[in-house]
Amino acid sequence: MKILGSYLSGRWTAGSGAPQTLVNPATEEPLAQVSSDGLDLAAALEHARGEGGPALRALSFAERGALLKDMAKAIQAHRDELLELAVANGGNTRSDAKFDVDGAIFTLQTYAELGEKLGAAKLLVDGEGVQLGRSPRFHGQHVCVPRHGVAVHINAFNFPAWGLAEKAAAALLAGMPVLAKPATSSAMVAHRVMEILVEKKVLPGGALSILVGAPRNLPALLGSQDVLAFTGSGDTGMRIRALPNIIRESVRVNVEADSLNAAVLGPDAEPGGDMYETFLKDVLRDMTQKAGQKCTAIRRVLAPAEHAATVRDDLAEGLKIVRVGNPAQEETRMGPVASGAQLADVREGIGRLAAEGQAAFGSAAPLAGKGFFISPVLMEFAKGALAASVHAREVFGPVASLLPYSGAGPDAAAIVARGNGGLVSSVYSEDSDFLEDIVAGIAPYHGRIFLGHPKIEQSPGPGTVLPQLVHGGPGRAGGGEELGGVRGLAFYMQRVALEGSRPVIQKLTGVPPS
Ligand code: NAP
Repeated sequence: MKILGSYLSGRWTAGSGAPQTLVNPATEEPLAQVSSDGLDLAAALEHARGEGGPALRALSFAERGALLKDMAKAIQAHRDELLELAVANGGNTRSDAKFDVDGAIFTLQTYAELGEKLGAAKLLVDGEGVQLGRSPRFHGQHVCVPRHGVAVHINAFNFPAWGLAEKAAAALLAGMPVLAKPATSSAMVAHRVMEILVEKKVLPGGALSILVGAPRNLPALLGSQDVLAFTGSGDTGMRIRALPNIIRESVRVNVEADSLNAAVLGPDAEPGGDMYETFLKDVLRDMTQKAGQKCTAIRRVLAPAEHAATVRDDLAEGLKIVRVGNPAQEETRMGPVASGAQLADVREGIGRLAAEGQAAFGSAAPLAGKGFFISPVLMEFAKGALAASVHAREVFGPVASLLPYSGAGPDAAAIVARGNGGLVSSVYSEDSDFLEDIVAGIAPYHGRIFLGHPKIEQSPGPGTVLPQLVHGGPGRAGGGEELGGVRGLAFYMQRVALEGSRPVIQKLTGVPPS
């Protein structure tokens, strides 16, 4: 069986000890084994800091951007092979797999273009300079410089290609070397991406390393110049944040965690109308794409009480035709969830929801035969505001809850806010008063608000994270922020105020004298 190694300290190396077996979630067939026992993680971090860091900092933004462009090209050249791996090891349909792999390529390309725009500079000028005294000579200017440590990226199982690329794009462009740790169960895609990049010698030595297998004590080895960007469950995020070295050394930590994303149908979006159809399409796509294993997937569906029964029937109708099965078969529209543990977790979550609501479509029963299959499940609740379980825990699978509300913006906003912080919520309305109320009410609880509209051509819906916009959210969502174009670089850089003589500072920063 294939053994997946890790690429650390500039070479491929395999761990010793009892391996974990990676399987095909549709057939449970073993695909590969991995162990990280015995790997020298401290030396790997030191290698990244000592070799990758200086090599990247010697380059301008444009030159670092060119590296990202080469990464995108290398991945694109192996796209078909990566899609097949995602189908086998991730339980992805081909369309799900494209979402991951093409998302990785697009994000790298977007950050490559940003690098080109930032040009020959090696540091970021942050805002306008300020006159500090009576004479314009006494001047201040904020700039951002790359940190001298290593960026450790710990990713969730659902986006092995995109997760690696979206974090690496911002870090490498900022000038920080990366040590990436994909989730073990779906690591084959990230592992292959790394093999491709190493084979093509795309990056300078030490700029990108990968640890495949258990994280062991990786976060505990980080110091004050390092950063850690984590995507996964809130519980793991909390454990990482509480590590003594993370607190003592003020290690910068970004957490992207759980989210109870909502979709709100406005009172003006009558059933049968274009806005209503857009809403239905987005909810159905989000429930079933990647078997609902998207951090941005719609979990709570809010509809005015007068339309709730129609929404329920229309969603049930749409779910009925979703063919669940082995994603290697072309007719399959939804594959399995990623692992046996994930299936158990989803079933348990449905059980909790069922204590307060009732299933309007599907059930928690596993589907017959091998593989981690479950049908899409739509839960229905009589009183949206009172259903505590809906707002308490994310069920990370093809599961959504339908909640009625009065039709008033502030009422919908109060229900959405009970999710206690999310990545994205979507609103489907053209009523300006309603929009004003709901956006004001839910914006403080979100990183992104998607305003659905039938006239947005080829809308990807709320579930797609775009590199130009920030991704993250407060509270339950982890309090993190990634991407957002140039904003995404800030996490990897130190903002420093330069205070002194204006000509000296302007020369240093490359700002033309005014
Ligand atoms: P998880 O169990 O927290 O694992 C996430 C990652 O953390 C994996 O790489 C895992 O490694 C690693 N890990 C586990 N324990 C660790 C520890 N003590 N120290 C350091 N790393 C540790 O989460 P998951 O089940 O993979 O992912 C599902 C969750 O991720 C969902 O709740 C979902 O909402 C969230 N998610 C959020 C976003 C977002 O952008 N906000 C995106 C995707 C997913 P192993 O795999 O080796 O155990």
